[in-house]
Amino acid sequence: MLHRKLLAITFLLLLPAFVFAQRKHKAKHRSKLVAAPTSSDAGSFRIVPLGVLGGIDESNLSAYMVAPVGSNNYVCLDAGTLHAGIEKAIDNKAFDVRGDKVLKQYIKGYFISHAHLDHLAGLIINSPEDSTKNIYGLASTLETLKTHYFTWESWANFADDGGKPQLKKYHYSPLLPGVESAVDNTDMQVQAFPLSHSNLTSTAFLLRSKDSYVLYLGDTGADEIEKSQNLHKLWEAVAPLVAAGKLKALMIEVSYPSDQPDKNLFGHLTPRLLMNEMDVLAQLSGTSLKGLNVVVTHMKPPYRSITKIKVQLNYANKRQMNLIYPRQGKPLVF
Ligand SMILES: [Zn+2]
Ligand SMILES: [Zn+2]
Repeated sequence: MLHRKLLAITFLLLLPAFVFAQRKHKAKHRSKLVAAPTSSDAGSFRIVPLGVLGGIDESNLSAYMVAPVGSNNYVCLDAGTLHAGIEKAIDNKAFDVRGDKVLKQYIKGYFISHAHLDHLAGLIINSPEDSTKNIYGLASTLETLKTHYFTWESWANFADDGGKPQLKKYHYSPLLPGVESAVDNTDMQVQAFPLSHSNLTSTAFLLRSKDSYVLYLGDTGADEIEKSQNLHKLWEAVAPLVAAGKLKALMIEVSYPSDQPDKNLFGHLTPRLLMNEMDVLAQLSGTSLKGLNVVVTHMKPPYRSITKIKVQLNYANKRQMNLIYPRQGKPLVF
C-alpha cells in the first residue's frame, strides 16, 4: 500500500517535467516543419467583434470582422459600430496597427444583413475616412442604402450608384440567394440566405475559407412566429456542413428573454425560440449539436435583460452546445 502511494507521488512529481519535455520536443519538431503560415491546427477563422449589442449603446452595435486565421484580409459582417470597436480591439491588443489602417486596409468589404441603423450606422459615419471597397448584401438591402442613406439628403453619396454626384468609394455588390461568390481581395467565399425580420428581409451570410465555414445571421424571427420557412431552408442548407464538422461557428441573435410576448418580438429570437430552431438543425443534420460553437449576438439592453437571456440560454442548453457571449474588441478563433 505504502509502496503504491510512493509510486503515485513520484509519478505526480515527475509529471510536469515529463509534459515540459514533450512540449519542447513538439515545438522543436514543429519549427522544422513550418515553412509557410498555416491555419490548419490553430483554427480556421479569426473573428474580432467590433460591436455586439442589439440596441441603444451606439458605441457597441453589431459588427464582426472575420478573416481566415493568419490573414489580415477581413470582411466586416454588419457595421453598426466601427470606430469605437476598432479602438477597443487595439486597446485589447487584437491589432498591432493604427485604427485607420484597420479600417482602410484590413476591412476589405462590408456584408450588411439589413438596412436597420444598428447594422450600418458605423459604415455611414466612418465613410469619409474609409477606403474604396465593396458593400455586399441582398438587392433589397442595397436598394435601401441607395435610396435612404447615401442620398445627399441623409448623407453624401459615397457609393457608385444613386444620387449624383456619386463619390464612387463604395461599390454595391448584390448577392443572389444561395449562390456562392468570391469576396474580392480575400481568400473567402460567401453565400447569402434570406431571413424573415418582421416587415424586412434580413440576411444570413455563410462564409467559407477552404473547407471551413462560419454562418452569421442578421436579425431574424423564428419560423413559427414569422410564418416563414426561411430558417428551415437555411438549416437544410447547412445541415451537411454541421454533420461533417465543417461549420466552425454559428453566429445568431437572441434579442429578448423568453418571456417577451410574441407581439413584441419585432422579428427577433428569444432563448426558447433559438432552442426550438436548434432542434430543427439537430434533426436535419442528424447530430446532437453537442460542442457546436454558437456565438450569441444582438442581445438588447438593459443589462438585467441580458443577464436573464444568458441564464435562460444556459439553462435551456440541453444539447450542450458551446455558447459564446462575444465581447467588443476580444478576438475569437474557431
Ligand atoms: Zn438589429
Ligand atoms: Zn433589425
